[in-house]
Amino acid sequence: MSKVDIKSMTKDELSFALAEINLPKFRTNQIFSWLHQKGVSSFDEMTNLSKSLREQLDEKFVIRSCEIETKRVSKEDSTVKYLFRLYDGEYVESVLMKYKYGYSLCVSTQVGCRMGCKFCASTLGGVIRNLSASEILSQIHMAQNDENIRVSHVVLMGMGEPFDNFENVKKFLYLVNCDDGLNLSMRNISLSTCGIVPSIYELMDMNLQLTLSVSLHAPNDNLRSSLMPINKKYGVSELIKACRIYTEKTSRRISFEYSMISGVNDSDECAEELSKLLKGMLCHVNLIPVNNVRENNYVRSDDNRLKKFVSILEKNSINVTVRRTLGKDIEASCGQLRKKHISAQGGN
Ligand code: SAH
Repeated sequence: MSKVDIKSMTKDELSFALAEINLPKFRTNQIFSWLHQKGVSSFDEMTNLSKSLREQLDEKFVIRSCEIETKRVSKEDSTVKYLFRLYDGEYVESVLMKYKYGYSLCVSTQVGCRMGCKFCASTLGGVIRNLSASEILSQIHMAQNDENIRVSHVVLMGMGEPFDNFENVKKFLYLVNCDDGLNLSMRNISLSTCGIVPSIYELMDMNLQLTLSVSLHAPNDNLRSSLMPINKKYGVSELIKACRIYTEKTSRRISFEYSMISGVNDSDECAEELSKLLKGMLCHVNLIPVNNVRENNYVRSDDNRLKKFVSILEKNSINVTVRRTLGKDIEASCGQLRKKHISAQGGN
């Protein structure tokens, strides 16, 4: 019989499972706290449980944790990039960033990704598997325990498409927000999607206070489809319509990610077209100079182009910021480190 993934269980589910092996109710609180507040990786670390109880738990359950395979600390800005090894030998990445308001962790939701965005390193080998809720949580636990800090903000913006693993992501959101767990406020969580429209509506109906980020990267179908295959399924007008309805229903501002790629999507015309598309919406545009990925030829827009693009959006009353690039020297962007690690091992 395969063991049950104990850290993906809600408190009620845990309570039920422990009752089945005749454990009293207070054990649920103890064990839940070890798993979620202290982020332990083994039952042996649960020191207020007897050895026989720990063995009993070990027979029935497994803690899906992750181990630090490599860790790189940026000399420029102390951003930390982790490459984590999962129980089955797969790898995912997380990035810990220090801001004035606290520590923010960018976590992965899948091993690889099947969305195929042309500029992204995570998708080069396709998707291998989904992460469980516990594996998404474990990235936070490992970073906290390793650096001896508290993560205050989480962005689901690492490897993978959160809406392509939505059931586990929902569980993660519930658990990370749980009072007896990490107790992170939904307002401190961002979820980023390449634009899977039905899931945007589903998230809207959940009425959470989290921030939705939408990776837009182009203002029209021709250009967007050439960069992001998902656009052939859900085109720009369908996506923007969903976003408008989302902001109206939830009163939450959407953040549009727009990677600036020299000569591809950074013209004055693109800026005007983008302004028209987003006019009047409760939103914000985050411009990201594209990160160079070895496997493609995209080049980041230069500072003058960025400034001009910003000025056109501002003239049209669109909220815009340029994202500060952190961890440039440690290949902090999506998928780069895993890719390199696998190649070094002789994989794809
Ligand atoms: N699948 C989700 C979340 C993961 S990607 C999504 O598409 O939003 C996180 C963000 O990084 C997305 O906005 C993505 O488009 C962007 N991104 C990926 N590769 C990039 C690169 N090389 N340079 C800049 N941004 C990149």
